[in-house]
Amino acid sequence: MSQIENTTLLVIGGGPGGYVAAIRAGQLGIPTVLVEREQLGGTCLNIGCIPSKALIHAAEEFDKTLQYAETSPLGIRVRAPEIDIERTVAWKDGIVQKLTRGVGALLKKHGVKVVQGDAHVIDGKTVDVTSNANGERVRIHCEHLLLAAGSEPTALPSMPFGGKVVSSTEALSPKTLPKRLVVVGAGYIGLELGTVYRKLGVDVTVVEALDRILPAYDAELVKPVADALTRKGVGVLLGHKVLGLSADGHAVRVQDREGVEKTLPADQVLVAVGRRPRTQGWGLESLQLDRNGAALRIDDQCRTSMRDVWAIGDLAGEPMLAHLAMAQGEMVAELIAGKARRFVPAAIPAVCFTDPEIVTAGMSPADAQAAGLDCLSASFPFAANGRAMTLEATDGFVRVVARRDNHLIVGWQAVGRGVSELAAAFSQSMEMGARLEDIGGTIHAHPTLGEAVQEAALRALGHALHI
Ligand SMILES: Cc1cc2nc3c(=O)[nH]c(=O)nc-3n(C[C@H](O)[C@H](O)[C@H](O)COP(=O)(O)OP(=O)(O)OC[C@H]3O[C@@H](n4cnc5c(N)ncnc54)[C@H](O)[C@@H]3O)c2cc1C
Repeated sequence: MSQIENTTLLVIGGGPGGYVAAIRAGQLGIPTVLVEREQLGGTCLNIGCIPSKALIHAAEEFDKTLQYAETSPLGIRVRAPEIDIERTVAWKDGIVQKLTRGVGALLKKHGVKVVQGDAHVIDGKTVDVTSNANGERVRIHCEHLLLAAGSEPTALPSMPFGGKVVSSTEALSPKTLPKRLVVVGAGYIGLELGTVYRKLGVDVTVVEALDRILPAYDAELVKPVADALTRKGVGVLLGHKVLGLSADGHAVRVQDREGVEKTLPADQVLVAVGRRPRTQGWGLESLQLDRNGAALRIDDQCRTSMRDVWAIGDLAGEPMLAHLAMAQGEMVAELIAGKARRFVPAAIPAVCFTDPEIVTAGMSPADAQAAGLDCLSASFPFAANGRAMTLEATDGFVRVVARRDNHLIVGWQAVGRGVSELAAAFSQSMEMGARLEDIGGTIHAHPTLGEAVQEAALRALGHALHI
């Protein structure tokens, strides 16, 4: 042991949970050390949210030019476009680099000490860090230990990662494009990346064990996405279990519910069947913290079962979302600084960046019913929205769910091109306790997709203006 350090707060993990906690702690004057073994920014900035959205944008632009090369009602004509995937990936890496460097600069600005290396928990107040650069070990003592080690992709026992079987991490940095890609899992990661590859010209088949894609969302919301996948020529095989690679390794063997087997030729297989909290391999077991399934159990202040040991983000389980991790991280820093906080958001928005996109906040009509609430709900279709027409984006709708007795809004859902940007309006309205009349009575700029938000509220009140 070459060095011993002391700090008030020690954060393990420099993802959106850990780095936001450290920045806020720095702002509040708490001596803070953050340990990260890979790149600052974690899954989100390096191999998750940001790179996937960059590739989604690139694929969409390429797909548009392909459509223009055929025929365009807009009168645009282009010659046969091509994609230089190396350059696309380099562009995406440039964005990642800019953001991760930005995180480093923010941590420095707020006086956070960043230690690059592998953290190994000794006890609730002691962590050893082995430097990546020279193998040297530092022992760090802390008053508060914040666990923000994130999650990792779940492997299929019948088809472990390696060779042509890849996770989202490798799929986000292709050196060349495969001719045929099989995606296992029709959750949002599988569908976002499957759509990217299809738009870049790859022959894509998605295999899902359940009877529907995007099982976390209701059927009405998912339908426009399913229809778009069909239009784009993405094969979707529902109710099929993956058995493994064929003997020659050139295909994926799948089986339907009746036990009938078939093979799907594949040059690459993307396994996107979920992520699990990263709880192993770094001494966490020694703390014997209470678990909630595979995740760490936390209370509404992100406290674990051990005093002054906190956990946030993916390590604490579903929903695994970057903005949730950030909000938890900010709160923990404030609690350590002595502020009174609890984590009781009215809504945690979630976006699925498929084409079209899905955004949800709060309860769906079915959730409200299951919770025993008497609710009314109403939708407004983008087919009746002028801005949607000018964007050639009339597929989809905005839906509101509100209590029948006092019209308090308890949920929003939307599906359509660009609806991710409605997430802010949805969660703000819920955090502020808005009623249908508040949204219906707010002047929304024309022509915008947001007018569908106002119209959905008006429709729930029985007097939509444009339908
Ligand atoms: C392809 C993909 C797309 C996604 N898209 C979205 C999206 O659009 N929106 C959204 O909200 N979420 C998205 N997510 C999920 C999002 O990335 C995670 O919810 C978020 O990154 C969780 O943040 P975190 O801080 O908990 O953990 P992470 O971001 O996983 O960070 C944990 C960090 O801890 C480090 N670490 C772990 N163990 C140790 C150790 N022993 N020593 C030192 N360092 C350690 C890791 O290297 C990592 O950098 C996506 C995920 C993937 C994979």
